[in-house]
Amino acid sequence: MPDLMKAWVVDRAGPMERGPLLRVDKDVPEPGPRQVRVRVRVCGVCRTDLHLAEGDLAPRRGRVTPGHEVVGVVDRLGPGATRWREGDRIGVPWLAHTCGVCRFCVSGRENLCLSPRFTGWDVDGGYAEFAVVEEAYAYALPEGFDDEEVAPLLCAGIIGYRALRRANLPEGGRLGIYGFGGSAHITAQVALAHGARVHVMTRSAEAQALALALGATSAGAADAAPPEPLDSAILFAPVGTLVPPALAALDRGGTLAIAGIHLSDIPVLNYEDHLFEERTLLSVTANTRQDGEDFLAEAARIHLRVSATPYPMDHADAALRDLGADRVNGAAVLVA
Ligand SMILES: [Zn+2]
Ligand SMILES: [Zn+2]
Repeated sequence: MPDLMKAWVVDRAGPMERGPLLRVDKDVPEPGPRQVRVRVRVCGVCRTDLHLAEGDLAPRRGRVTPGHEVVGVVDRLGPGATRWREGDRIGVPWLAHTCGVCRFCVSGRENLCLSPRFTGWDVDGGYAEFAVVEEAYAYALPEGFDDEEVAPLLCAGIIGYRALRRANLPEGGRLGIYGFGGSAHITAQVALAHGARVHVMTRSAEAQALALALGATSAGAADAAPPEPLDSAILFAPVGTLVPPALAALDRGGTLAIAGIHLSDIPVLNYEDHLFEERTLLSVTANTRQDGEDFLAEAARIHLRVSATPYPMDHADAALRDLGADRVNGAAVLVA
């Protein structure tokens, strides 16, 4: 086993053109108690990684390695680790640790834990040859998905699934999706499998075409009015100016869920146009492990189609630049 590995780190957060990511040699991490180490095979590229690199998301640790959609093979068990065996293919997700004792953890809401840790923000993630995970936070991955298809499920899929639950879509209801990247194209398929009519609003022509190919009822411009009132809507684009049109598109009693970790400012709302008639506006913050287990079971049941665009691991900076410029259709993944 070599002592050093190649890993990307966020050096100085800023616009991607200034090269905030560096590829460095780092010590191969050793798994601690009840942790396991994986050899990374694929790591998905999430918009959160871009927010971190560009400084929209404040760094929580210097020179952290991003990446929280990690598909790897267990190659070393830490002391007392019993859940996995060497050779298992597992997923390392965003939620890396919760305290287990705060008022949120003890009431089934560990996504709101007061002292959580997140992969690729507080602890090193998967833009590297190896990563370490607490065994209780890793996922078994469904059979029938290759590494590139399954990686985007680990954040894009899970967070989108929680957003869909929070959006309170009735069975067979009318769902609006604003922004259509990695998370949205997975979430749309879950809604369609439950009989929803899905309307997609996005500026990219390729994304509109992908939406229609996956079975969306309509696809229009980013702030277009959908052809019918919506029971529920999810805002995936990190664009606060889309909140008013998305609220205006809701039927009476409808719900708009904002899925992202970062959103540009929301303009002034008009009570009558945007909130009255019992419309609900809410956010989505991380996820519980149960959300992840439920989603992965559902993904296997309905056999989601994941549109993944592979990049070599040593081109992670190019993948993030393309994501920022809307040049990725579906989800970008880094392949070791
Ligand atoms: Zn807690
Ligand atoms: Zn993510």
